[in-house]
Amino acid sequence: MASAQEEDSPRDGAVSEKDERQRAGKPRFQQIDREQLFWRMINVERLIAEDHPARAIWEFVGKLDLSGYTGEIRAVEGMAGRPALSPQLLVSLWAYAYGHGVGSGRAIEQLCEWDPAYQWLTGAVVVNAHTLSDFRVKHEKALKELFVQVLGLLSADGLITLERVMQDGTKIGGKAAQDSFRRKERVEQALKQAQEQVAAVEALSEEESSRRISKARRRAQRERQQRLEQALEEFEKLAEEGSGKGPEDRRVSTSDPQARIMKQPDGGFAPSYNAQINTDASNGVVVAVGVVQAGNDFEQLQPGVDRVEQNLGRTPDQVVTDGGFVSRDNIVAMKERGVEFIGPCGDEAGKGKSSYEGRGVSPEYHSSQFVYDAQSDSYCCPQGKILTYDGKEQRHTQVSYRYRAQRSDCQGCPVKGQCCRGNRVTGRSIHRSEEIAEVAEFRHKMQTEPAREIYRHRAQVAETPNLWIKEKFGLRQFNVRGLSKVGMEALWACLTYNIRIWIRLRWIQVATVAMVPA
Ligand code: SF4
Repeated sequence: MASAQEEDSPRDGAVSEKDERQRAGKPRFQQIDREQLFWRMINVERLIAEDHPARAIWEFVGKLDLSGYTGEIRAVEGMAGRPALSPQLLVSLWAYAYGHGVGSGRAIEQLCEWDPAYQWLTGAVVVNAHTLSDFRVKHEKALKELFVQVLGLLSADGLITLERVMQDGTKIGGKAAQDSFRRKERVEQALKQAQEQVAAVEALSEEESSRRISKARRRAQRERQQRLEQALEEFEKLAEEGSGKGPEDRRVSTSDPQARIMKQPDGGFAPSYNAQINTDASNGVVVAVGVVQAGNDFEQLQPGVDRVEQNLGRTPDQVVTDGGFVSRDNIVAMKERGVEFIGPCGDEAGKGKSSYEGRGVSPEYHSSQFVYDAQSDSYCCPQGKILTYDGKEQRHTQVSYRYRAQRSDCQGCPVKGQCCRGNRVTGRSIHRSEEIAEVAEFRHKMQTEPAREIYRHRAQVAETPNLWIKEKFGLRQFNVRGLSKVGMEALWACLTYNIRIWIRLRWIQVATVAMVPA
């Protein structure tokens, strides 16, 4: 007797009726219904994993004293009114957001609607973009104190030693369009127009004004007027600084007046700020950050060391920089403050094409052929003419004394073509350099292998936070305008960077390694 299976199965080579129908039929697909509404149960606590960095940030921020942020909160216990959002939440949101390249309150507000990490932080409540934006830039003193507190915690955890601190400057773009730079007259004209527009709106009755012009537009008009007023103040500042340009060549941005056109690493020029970052070499913690308008770094070493001292109560034992910081003043100042200074000591005389070649000076008229007379403090040229003292210049590590011949002597000289061919206005000048003991000592030290070995580690330590802030946090351009606000944004980025170092090195539950500075 045949089994039941044998009875139901098709005979060898035959096709069942079911197979036949499937082969001939049209495929059916599950329909996507985007019109449907449904309730979903969310366990907020389980939105993110146990080792998610958002939990670490929340835990770390919870250790901080945030009373600096609570002074202006009007909602108090025992009184009516909506409770305020806690500073722990707002600090955590910004720290988490910067770490993920999110730099605007609007973007965070949107992320609060769907991103599990933001929902976990907020308890699935959406936080208003204006609240976030105001919180970021309206509490400068509290933010600076917060940064110092974070350093205190990291120091107590043994993550900061101040034995060696690297300082480096990095250019971060301002919120200024390249074509927004104007001469003073153009800014004055624009300000006049802006003042007229604001006055015309203010002259309207409240009802008519709100009917014809939106609130946002009125606010934009007032902000434009303020920016133009600030631009005029910046012209005054440039004049006081002696920017090296004549008044007719000075230009200031009308969209971010405090940004400056600065040379970029790729050789181009762009509206920027110069962020100065001091990094402790032991674990890579950023121990100080400041933002300045100066394009070069020569004058930034001493303020940088000051900031480290303000933040941690003492100066570093050693400070390491690139050549942009090495100057006679800095060498002397670091010596006086008891801070060992390590940096490259270039031999300016040996760099590049000889300046004599470039200017067509014959060897018999090089400055070595001019004879110095110490008694009269003057030089005598190969034609017997006298070059007298004409002033002093600071050249990196040296002081250079300038001596100049009489215009009439050189312009009528028969060998002028071999001595100072291109000089049509003044007499030939030469320089006498003098190196002080501190610079000689510095130069000698930098020729030793231990000092060179320390310097070789500079780039790795000093440039890592710069790279993270720009590449991982996406802060190649500031999201806010003005020196004070960009300074705060730089602080937020460095605060985030430091918290992430704590997560990597100290958070017991070990956060996702890929999210943390290496
Ligand atoms: S050009 Fe002037 S400095 Fe040169 S050799 Fe003649 S007089 Fe002397």
